[in-house]
This record gives sequence, structure tokens and C-alpha cells, in this order.
Amino acid sequence: IRRNLDRSVVAEYDSALAARARLRYELRHALRGDRRHGRLEVHYQPQIDVEAGKLIGLEALVRWCHPEFGLVAPAMFVPQAEQSGRIFELDAHVARLVCEDLKRWLAKGLDPVPVALNFSRVSLMHPELFARLETILRETGVPGRLIELEVTESVLLDSLQPLYPRIAALRSLGVHIAIDDFGTGSSNLDALADFTFDRLKADRQFVHGVASDHKKAGLFSLIHGAARVFDAELICEGLEDEADLAWLTSRGVHCVQGWLFSRARTARDIEHLLLRFHDAQERQLSVGELRA
Ligand code: C2E
Ligand code: MG
Ligand code: MG
Ligand code: MG
Repeated sequence: IRRNLDRSVVAEYDSALAARARLRYELRHALRGDRRHGRLEVHYQPQIDVEAGKLIGLEALVRWCHPEFGLVAPAMFVPQAEQSGRIFELDAHVARLVCEDLKRWLAKGLDPVPVALNFSRVSLMHPELFARLETILRETGVPGRLIELEVTESVLLDSLQPLYPRIAALRSLGVHIAIDDFGTGSSNLDALADFTFDRLKADRQFVHGVASDHKKAGLFSLIHGAARVFDAELICEGLEDEADLAWLTSRGVHCVQGWLFSRARTARDIEHLLLRFHDAQERQLSVGELRA
């Protein structure tokens, strides 16, 4: 029995390894444009200022349209890409797809809002990052101010020095910087103070249920205070509940993103949304209309 058990454990381990190797192999080919392994697609989640009743931004979230598995979530392949050294290729590919969408929206006379890209630490430190982004922006004619890079606090953990000139160079293109998942990493407030960024994203874990959990409310207030100190705009992610929204707005927080308003949507859906804004007076819609 013992031997059989071991064998089945080994077999399971082998098949997990094989599945991972296959995913890596296929992702590499999908990134190269080999359609047999599917293609990467960008979905966009609206960011809303509930006070102004305005769409203020979009977060680009990558999905892999796989011929066999359907729409695959980033949790299934972003860590893989990080481990196999393909993450820069992936993040740059997403940047290109986003700028092509923006180019199309601009060409149609729409007035698109800035799009936030999730950039892994490795991508941010990649020696070709600046040149690649500059090329993509130039070739698509998209102004840098329509792009925001979301980085997690972990980028601030080690070797900060080489990061400053990089961030400054990116900002010289007009690109904005946001700190993603704030509060979940090992925050180095001292390092953050030396770092120039535009927005702070409060992670879902401090937003979901904030209205009914004292401890969460306290932690959220700390994050809110940090945003003020750093002179950054605070945006809350993962907003699902009406009660949490009421709690936030009563404390003067009005920039939100979450399923209460909308999940990530296809580029086509977003185009329709931009069109509605375009037609609405002063680009303003009621909060109800903003819900998908
Ligand atoms: P993130 O940047 O923190 O993105 C937020 C995640 O929360 C997204 O999951 C989004 O769909 C989900 N979300 C949004 N609103 C709600 C809500 O109200 N409730 C709940 N429960 N979830 C909500 P998604 O799309 O699966 O992405 C997961 C993570 O994958 C992202 O976390 C980001 O770290 C990473 N990621 C996505 N796209 C890229 C990319 O192009 N490059 C890199 N390097 N990472 C990416
Ligand atoms: Mg993000
Ligand atoms: Mg986040
Ligand atoms: Mg998150």
C-alpha cells in the first residue's frame, strides 16, 4: 500500500510539473503571436469618482484566451511568467495592446481616461523598460498622461537607488505612478516618503467590510492618512457593498473601483461606455448609470 501511495503522490507531482511546463511553453508561444496557443486579451475595470459622477480611469487586467481552457485568469500565469523570466515580455505586450485600444478610441474622437497597467517588479527594473514604453507611445501616438503604472510596495523593499532615475524618466513621458495593493506588502513608509507617486490604491482587504469591522476601519484610516501625507490620491479597490461605499464617502473618500460598479469589461464594452460619456453633457453620468 505504502509503495502504491508513494507512486500516486509522485505521479500527481509529475503531472502538476508537466502542466506547469506546458503552460510556460504555451504562454511563450502565445506571446510570440502563435494563435494555436491562444492570445492575450486586456479587460478593463472602470474607476469611478462617485462624488463627481465621473469615470476617472480604467485598470487593464490581462486574460489569456486559451483554445482549450477558455479565459484564464492572471493568477494562473502571471506568477509563471515571473518565474520563467517572461514577465517583461508579458507586461510590455499588455502595454502595447492597451495603447492600441487607446489609439483606436482617440481616432474615433472619444476622450479616453487614463489606463493603469500592472507592472511586476522585474518589469519595472528591466533595462529596456523606458525605451520600450517610449517606442510604444510614439508608434501609437498615445500621450504618456493616458498611462499609469501600478507597482506594488515590494518594489520599494530593496535597492531603491536605481529606481529613482527610472521613475523620473517615466514621469518625464507624462506617465503616472500608483502604488497597488497598499497595506498588504511590507510597507516601508520611509522609502515611500522618498518616492514620487500619484495615487495610492487601498487593497480590497481594507475596503471589503470596512463599514462593519472596527479594526478594518482603523487600518483604513491609517491608509487614508498615509495618502494625505504623501499627497497622493486615494482609490479603493474591491468595493462590493453599498454599506462600505456609504462609510467611505462619509469620510471623504470618493474614488473607487469594484464589483459594486463594474467588473473588468472587454475593450468593446468600454468603447460603448466612453461613447456614452462623450454624448453626456460635461462627461458626467449619474452614479446609477455608471453601474454595469
Ligand atoms: P490587482 O492589480 O490588485 O487587481 C485587482 C484584482 O481584483 C483583479 O483580479 C480584479 O478583477 C479583482 N477585483 C476587482 N474588483 C473586485 C471586487 O469588487 N471584488 C473582488 N473580490 N475582486 C475584485 P484579476 O483580474 O484576476 O487580477 C489579479 C492580479 O493579477 C492583479 O491584482 C495583478 O496583480 C495581476 N495582473 C493582472 N494583469 C496583469 C498584467 O498585465 N501584468 C502583471 N504583471 N500583473 C497583472
Ligand atoms: Mg492593480
Ligand atoms: Mg490591486
Ligand atoms: Mg489586489
